[in-house]
Amino acid sequence: MEDTLQININKTQHPRVQNLDYHDIQFAREYSDHMLMADFKNGAWQDPHIEPYGNLSLSPANPAIHYGQSIFEGLKAYKHEDGRVSVFRPKANYSRMNVSAKRMVMPHIPEEIFMDGLIELLKLDYKWVPDVEGTSLYIRPFLFATDEFIGVRPSQNYKFMIITTPVGAYYSKPVRVKVETHYTRAVKGGTGYAKTAGNYAASLYPAKLAQDAGYDQLIWTDGQNHTLIEESGTMNIMFILNDALVTAPTGDTILDGITRDSVLTLAKDWGMKVEERPLSVTEMVEGLQSGALKEAFGVGTAATIAPIEIIANDGIDYKLDESGREFSQKMLKTLTDIRLGRAEDKFGWNYFI
Ligand SMILES: *Cc1c(COP(=O)(O)O)cnc(C)c1O
Repeated sequence: MEDTLQININKTQHPRVQNLDYHDIQFAREYSDHMLMADFKNGAWQDPHIEPYGNLSLSPANPAIHYGQSIFEGLKAYKHEDGRVSVFRPKANYSRMNVSAKRMVMPHIPEEIFMDGLIELLKLDYKWVPDVEGTSLYIRPFLFATDEFIGVRPSQNYKFMIITTPVGAYYSKPVRVKVETHYTRAVKGGTGYAKTAGNYAASLYPAKLAQDAGYDQLIWTDGQNHTLIEESGTMNIMFILNDALVTAPTGDTILDGITRDSVLTLAKDWGMKVEERPLSVTEMVEGLQSGALKEAFGVGTAATIAPIEIIANDGIDYKLDESGREFSQKMLKTLTDIRLGRAEDKFGWNYFI
């Protein structure tokens, strides 16, 4: 019951952390020693606990598998030079997860389970937070339906979990993206703003077609006319156009990125002109042709700030000059410095464990 959400801990007898090579961290190759779990049953949250990382046993009639009633979050923990560990803006992820939960008719997650669960888990697995430049511990909270029932209806039972995994760079070099004008990621009234499983399943095929054509990722356009820029894969997308920072406004079809918000906040703080407004593919292409568009980059927790080197539209590859990456490089450095405690955390984004 909610007033006794004490987290029980069952520690692993076989820790694997001593085998972790901090100098050879790839993206999510292995998972930390422990995981957090809590169940929603009979209308209440119960039994939050930590146990050794391992496989689950699920009913074959699990509705998350059949109908995708499943949501997730993504955030990162960093090791500071003084050895302390901080998580970047976890309460923003907590709030957003409940926005996704509401859209998918899933129960509200109590703050004690999400935040206390996260803290206890990291206290146990803090050695999994790598301290080499460019690495961090990726944290994956998720919530999914657990009824044993294959009728289409909201589940009555759910499981909330957190697993963690050390990560290095998501993209090892500047990305090549293609403007998608046929397939659609999200539509007005749909689920684009929720971090829910099906959005990503639906994006795999168009992304694969782009990869087969030599690109890393897509730039999604609006589902109605395919004329407005929305976002890119699991990143929001931003441009430096006529010396202003331009990005699409959030809404039904765009994920409200925490990195996006952090970048906009810092840019405003620097006195930069910031425009959250619809940007058309035509305006972007004209900017690429005239040189008024100096930078394009993706922003997200997994990819941090990912500079874009090629934007393909209508069969033409537009190249962005490496020497133009002034803003995105400065932003990446500033965000990294804040996260590692090397620059002032003016906005109170670091949450210490
Ligand atoms: C998670 C995600 C982002 C980035 O959000 P952050 O909070 O910055 O990690 C952007 N777009 C999509 C579709 C996402 O799933």
